[in-house]
Amino acid sequence: MTDTVTNWAGNITYRAKELQRPHSLDALRALVGASAKVRVLGSGHSFNEIAEPGPQGVLVSIADLPPVTDVDTAARTVRVSGGVRYAELARAVHSRGLALPNMASLPHISVAGSVATGTHGSGVLNGSLASTVREVELIVADGSTERIARGDDRFEGAVTSLGALGVVTALTLDLEPAYEVEQHLFTELPLDGLDFGTFETIMASAYSVSLFTDWRAPGFRQVWRKRRTDRPLPDFPWAATATEKLHPVPGMPAVNCTEQFGVPGPWHERLPHFRAEFVPSSGAELQSEYLLSRPHALDALHALDAISATLAPVLQTCEVRTVAADPQWLSPAYGRDTVALHFTWIEDTRAVLPVVRQLEEALNPFEARPHWGKVFTTPATVLRERYPRLGDFRALTRTLDPAGKFTNAFLRDVLEG
Ligand SMILES: Cc1cc2nc3c(=O)[nH]c(=O)nc-3n(C[C@H](O)[C@H](O)[C@H](O)COP(=O)(O)OP(=O)(O)OC[C@H]3O[C@@H](n4cnc5c(N)ncnc54)[C@H](O)[C@@H]3O)c2cc1C
Repeated sequence: MTDTVTNWAGNITYRAKELQRPHSLDALRALVGASAKVRVLGSGHSFNEIAEPGPQGVLVSIADLPPVTDVDTAARTVRVSGGVRYAELARAVHSRGLALPNMASLPHISVAGSVATGTHGSGVLNGSLASTVREVELIVADGSTERIARGDDRFEGAVTSLGALGVVTALTLDLEPAYEVEQHLFTELPLDGLDFGTFETIMASAYSVSLFTDWRAPGFRQVWRKRRTDRPLPDFPWAATATEKLHPVPGMPAVNCTEQFGVPGPWHERLPHFRAEFVPSSGAELQSEYLLSRPHALDALHALDAISATLAPVLQTCEVRTVAADPQWLSPAYGRDTVALHFTWIEDTRAVLPVVRQLEEALNPFEARPHWGKVFTTPATVLRERYPRLGDFRALTRTLDPAGKFTNAFLRDVLEG
């Protein structure tokens, strides 16, 4: 490939024969039909080789296709093209008085790429971003278009699908009436003495709650409570109210973070931690995340505390969030109300990987499922145990893509091992 294409973090240089950026759906269909190996690149915010086609394959960006954000106010849905980013989608939806139920920590990620990996925000009652999808439109291996809607037997395999089924050209999402959110931040929540009931109360104490720690001292440095202004905000006696604006990474300037101190604002300008206007060019970081059944949350946090001396030297911040259970076969929240343990590491892969392995060992008793778009080493044999519908997903890929046009080395490793 003449162009060098890397992911956002710069830790992956994609191996590919060529990069193609079609400008029309017809050109995309022709490209897919004529190519032997294809992978789509979204906004490149994943931290592993999930999007890589390999040296003989075509890497396709759909960012140059005409963007579509068709809002149906009566049905409360939006049909959005796959390459559109959440910031753009959110503005279009909000301007029609409607909202998405949740967003991830930053709005710069593409819709199709995000739902493909099970990307999520926080909230005990909030599902992953993929759980709002009601229909997926795909260009499949022969270049034809396939629509898979809720109610179709294949649907629960077709959204969080790791890019393995075809090129997602559009998605139809459920919406709700627009709402406002305030962020209330607190500091120094102790882990010692925290029981599971209190943990659950804390995580349910606002619409979306995140805990942050650097594991350099016991407990959590920050608590972010995102309250919908149409819902009550219970008192928070467990930590002190923050006295200055905070960034999730201790010591980093908070200027790029969304408005804090309880100032109400539109849902899409408060649910992400980072402002849409802040354009991150490349990130000096790596990320990993493990999602486990919520009743294991406290035992898992104590297991992390026990290896804090290993984690801390390579860690920028660790975020604890919740995700509601969903029925999507490859969703890391499949079938279980979930606690998500996220790690923003320093950008040194060689230093980080051995720590990731120790972390996975520490979380092994809790049957943790790794985030598909982040750094992990969990082998296929273990993933098969943790994803009971993985076999159904493989069968679906064989039906829609019998020759394996959309598979790659990453998928062979994690799905077949
Ligand atoms: C700073 C930062 C913050 C993040 N915050 C969060 C967070 O809050 N919560 C969370 O869960 N994750 C988070 N992530 C991870 C991120 O959401 C996922 O990696 C997500 O997949 C990124 O979307 P993308 O468009 O960049 O996908 P890419 O990395 O480009 O691609 C991911 C996968 O989707 C496939 N794909 C992309 N577009 C298409 C398409 N049109 N058709 C078919 N397949 C497609 C690719 O082939 C690949 O398999 C964060 C990442 C970064 C860098």
